Amino acid sequence: MTGAAFLIADFTPSWNQPVQPFKIISNLYYVGTNYLASFLITTPAGNILINPDYQESVPVIKSSVEKLGFRFTDTEIILISHAHDDHAAGCALAKKLTGAKLAVMAQDAPEIESGGAGDFIYKSRWQPAHVDRTLHDGDKVNLGGITLIAHLTPGHTKGCTTWTATMNDGGRSYDVVIVGSPNVNTGYKLVGNKLYPGIASDYKRTFQVLEGLHCDIFLGAHGVYFDMDEKLKRLKAGDPNPFVDPAGYRAAVEKWHSAFLEKLAEQESGK
Ligand SMILES: [Zn+2]
Repeated sequence: MTGAAFLIADFTPSWNQPVQPFKIISNLYYVGTNYLASFLITTPAGNILINPDYQESVPVIKSSVEKLGFRFTDTEIILISHAHDDHAAGCALAKKLTGAKLAVMAQDAPEIESGGAGDFIYKSRWQPAHVDRTLHDGDKVNLGGITLIAHLTPGHTKGCTTWTATMNDGGRSYDVVIVGSPNVNTGYKLVGNKLYPGIASDYKRTFQVLEGLHCDIFLGAHGVYFDMDEKLKRLKAGDPNPFVDPAGYRAAVEKWHSAFLEKLAEQESGK
């Protein structure tokens, strides 16, 4: 969960390997790759896709959606975790193939519309996509009886977004949290960052938000955030829902928070 594994280059094929798509809970499905998490929420009014990932991931995601018995063209809304190429470079292609509307947090929208041109550290560039709806903290995305809430959890990017929803399954309701990314990547300047002066206070805000969320189902922008491989093994072994993991969520947030405070202290002391 440290930043080292997340250094962004242009397309990283080893992050884009297909995995068998699966149901998480209710009408929420995993349709991402081995390393890049994408989620499909199906509704009677069409479907919501969170994270088209790389442009090269879009065919992988499309095939996962179809393997589950759904149509990719039924995607009505596309959302992202944050405006980095590994979660969002495929927005333009996914929109083209589905005709879906793209909704993005205001502070990340310029990156999506410029293909990453204004990023405060990365040089990676991708196909720009038109943002149909600009979101603000607390905004709701509604479709077919499903409501997703956009929580601004900035720092990793200026508009990094954590998505929450309440979903019902088997007569119980579950609070789902899809963490945007609280990682401080290698090379991130938390002190004296001219291109992102508020970065440290933004991260602090993010941890306040994450610590305040109630989580039953713990998910995030990368499978490693929520121990996907381990939980998948348990799912295959008959555990009805290994993704119910409130303790895992709290532990992960605490770990991310400590990692941030450690890096901030290091940079403040000029090491
Ligand atoms: Zn990122």
